Amino acid sequence: MRKIVTIARINLIALVIICFGGCGKDKGNNDIFTIPQTAEVLDTSISEIYGDADAIVTIISDDGFYQTAENLDKIFGERELKCTVAGAIKFVEPDLESWEQLLENDTIDLVSHSYNHIKMATDTEISKDENALKHEIVDADQWYEEKLGKKQIVFVCPENTMCDLGYKILEENDFWAVRRGNRGYNPLSPKDGTNEGDWMNLMVQGIQDEGTDLSVRNGWVDTAISDNVWLIEMWHNVMLEDDGGYQTILISDAEKHMDYIKEKSDNNDIWVATFDEAVKYIREKQNINVYAYIDDSDLHVYGKLNKKNMSSSTFNQPLTVHITIPDDMNIEKSGNSIRQDGNELVINIIPNEELVMKIRGAE
Ligand SMILES: [Zn+2]
Repeated sequence: MRKIVTIARINLIALVIICFGGCGKDKGNNDIFTIPQTAEVLDTSISEIYGDADAIVTIISDDGFYQTAENLDKIFGERELKCTVAGAIKFVEPDLESWEQLLENDTIDLVSHSYNHIKMATDTEISKDENALKHEIVDADQWYEEKLGKKQIVFVCPENTMCDLGYKILEENDFWAVRRGNRGYNPLSPKDGTNEGDWMNLMVQGIQDEGTDLSVRNGWVDTAISDNVWLIEMWHNVMLEDDGGYQTILISDAEKHMDYIKEKSDNNDIWVATFDEAVKYIREKQNINVYAYIDDSDLHVYGKLNKKNMSSSTFNQPLTVHITIPDDMNIEKSGNSIRQDGNELVINIIPNEELVMKIRGAE
C-alpha cells in the first residue's frame, strides 16, 4: 500500500526535475535523474560519519622518509587500516621508485607537504615571495598529481604554519583542506576559514608531545568517541630505535597504540580514514542533496553534488545514508553495504551515481 503523495512532496518532485533537467548539460557526467510524478519520495539523512561510527581518526605521518613509510606500511597493513603520509618532495623524490612500489599495497596515501619543507609563516622571507610560495604549493601539487596519477585535494603545512599569501594560493588552487599543527580536535563539519578547526587550519595531537605515553594517546581516541569529533594524529618518523628526529615514535609504541585503534575500529566506535577520505566524506556531506523514491518495484537513491567545482571523479567517497521506507517493505540486499532495521534502511551511496534496489515481493 502506497502513501498518498502530499502537496509538499509534489513540489519537491517538480523542483528536482527542474534542477536535473538544467544540470543535464554537464559533459561526461551521466547524472540526469528525474523522479517520476507518481513515485513516492522518501525522507533521507546523511550520517555524520561513514558507517555511523562515533568519531573519525586520521593518522598523518609527516615528511616522507622512505624507511618510515615501510614501517608504517607494515604496522597499518597488518591491521588492515590505512594512513596518510605527508611528503615533502625533496624527501620523497630520492626513493621515488621504492615509494611507487610501496603505494601499490594501498595502505599509505601520499599527499603534499610542499617541495622543500620551508617554513611559510607570516614573518618569513618567503611569505612575501609569490613565486616561491607557488613553487612550494602549486608546483608540488602538480608533481604529486603527475607522479601518482591522482587529484590532490589536501595540503599539510611544513612547520605547521601558513602565511596569508600562501592561504590565498591554496584557496585559488583547489585545495579542500589544510592541516596545520595547532593542538586540538576538529569538528565533524569544519567551517570554511583559517581559524583553528576550520578547513584551512585543521588541528592535531602530536604523537610524542611532552608527557605523551600510551594511555594519553589512547585517551585521545576515547575523547574523540565521547565528544564525536575528528581526531588527527600527527606522527613523524616511526623507527625501530630512536633516530633523534622530531617526535620519532618507536615501532613497538606505535603498534600498541594501533592495537587500541584497531579494536575501536572493529567495534565501529571510530572510522579510521586517510586525510583524503575524511575530507572527501565531509565535503561531500556538506555539498550534496540526496533523493530517494519508490516506483513500482524498485527503490532509487541518488546523491547529487551541488557545488560546481566538485568533480565526480574526485569526490567519489561513499556516503552512509539513512532512508525511511514504508512499514512492511523489504529491500533485497544486493550488497553487503545495505542494512535494514524495520522501516529504516542504511546504505552507502557514491555521489552522482544512481543506486537501484529491488523491493522484495514487488510484482
Ligand atoms: Zn614536516
